[in-house]
Amino acid sequence: MGKIKMTTPLVEMDGDEMTRILWKMIKDNLLLPYIDLKTEYYDLGLENRNDTNDQVTIDSANATKKYGVAVKCATITPNAARMSEYNLKEMWKSPNGTIRAMLDGTVFRAPIVVKGIEPCVKNWKKPITLARHAYGDVYKNTEMIIDKPGKAELVYTTEDGVEKRELIHEFSGTGIIQGMHNTDDSIESFARSCFNYALEIKQDLWFATKDTISKKYDHTFKDIFQEIYNKEYKEKFKKCGIKYFYTLIDDAVARVMKAEGGFIWACKNYDGDVMSDMVSSAFGSLAMMTSVLVSPKGYYEYEAAHGTVQRHYYKYLKGEETSTNSVATIFAWTGALHKRGELDGNTELMEFANRLEKATVDTIESGKMTKDLALITSIPNPKVLNSEEFIQEIAKVL
Ligand code: NAP
Ligand code: MG
Repeated sequence: MGKIKMTTPLVEMDGDEMTRILWKMIKDNLLLPYIDLKTEYYDLGLENRNDTNDQVTIDSANATKKYGVAVKCATITPNAARMSEYNLKEMWKSPNGTIRAMLDGTVFRAPIVVKGIEPCVKNWKKPITLARHAYGDVYKNTEMIIDKPGKAELVYTTEDGVEKRELIHEFSGTGIIQGMHNTDDSIESFARSCFNYALEIKQDLWFATKDTISKKYDHTFKDIFQEIYNKEYKEKFKKCGIKYFYTLIDDAVARVMKAEGGFIWACKNYDGDVMSDMVSSAFGSLAMMTSVLVSPKGYYEYEAAHGTVQRHYYKYLKGEETSTNSVATIFAWTGALHKRGELDGNTELMEFANRLEKATVDTIESGKMTKDLALITSIPNPKVLNSEEFIQEIAKVL
């Protein structure tokens, strides 16, 4: 059988530690034997980021703008310990942060649902996709400790010197204050990314804020979503048979717990931070989670939701056996290949991506899995495989 041909290259962003090892195993065992794989390769491993003064990260994001679809391996975000471990010239920024800032998008995360790994919430039958706004609010705040009585005010000065003031509080004792912001541009692109993604995966979109209490700040989020929906998406949603549903955040949380899943939940930055950890742990594991950055311009970057699994890598370096779950990294590849196929009208490539996903799920459902899943599965007597055996088992099924 001939290999599947590709017309446009994928942007391939290699990474660090255990996920870098899995990356190569996945390519060798699951992709290269079947696909005439065309990629434009960028090595985002920490050593090469250091050698290129992080230019490679910027180049890889620009390549994503050129070709439209990227697949990214997990990468180290350097901290003090990494500075000495890798003898770094600088504490380079998080590659994900750099790429997100350049592509301007929203991160969508969804659990990979497998029989035998049941969510703790028993009525959740279908995945819940979380869409987190990745700019502003409390993540770009300014705070102050108030240590004696006085008056706190919110002051805005326009470029031509006009001042607006609002009283925050008259302090009779000590306390704390905080200022935060967002921009209409960022909220608009967040809204469009969510509406587009809902149309693409044909699922309802939920959005919630606390607009009853925050009558200007949160209300602006609500209004921008509604306005864009009415103007640009209402008809398209109707045609597609899906709904846009807005409610208050506390009501949304209560409804999510009682829902059966199968929708996208758009969250403001902080809500998304908190709720994505709740949803992912309730569904089982970070290694069973897809993650894709969707830009409003239509660029896609697929990755795993977890990190480089450092602890397993150190065992691997000592020659010890590891049982690291490669599912999220495999799904990053299938997501990217499927999207590439869709954009290029390459049905064979799309079908291959579907088959590889099915082979991965079937392998687990047949009771063969890595250790992290064996610990939580309801399948009796699961067979625990090491990192490589698991990938080879998927290859057999494929
Ligand atoms: P991590 O790599 O996600 O791993 C934390 C722990 O979760 C692991 O020690 C392991 O638990 C478990 N785990 C995560 N992924 C797993 C998998 N695929 N299979 C089996 N178990 C898995 O987080 P971290 O150790 O905090 O971070 C390591 C590095 O990753 C850091 O340098 C950080 O900067 C980077 N990071 C990168 C990204 C990204 O590129 N998107 C995201 C997060 C973190 P056990 O040890 O108990 O088996
Ligand atoms: Mg968090």
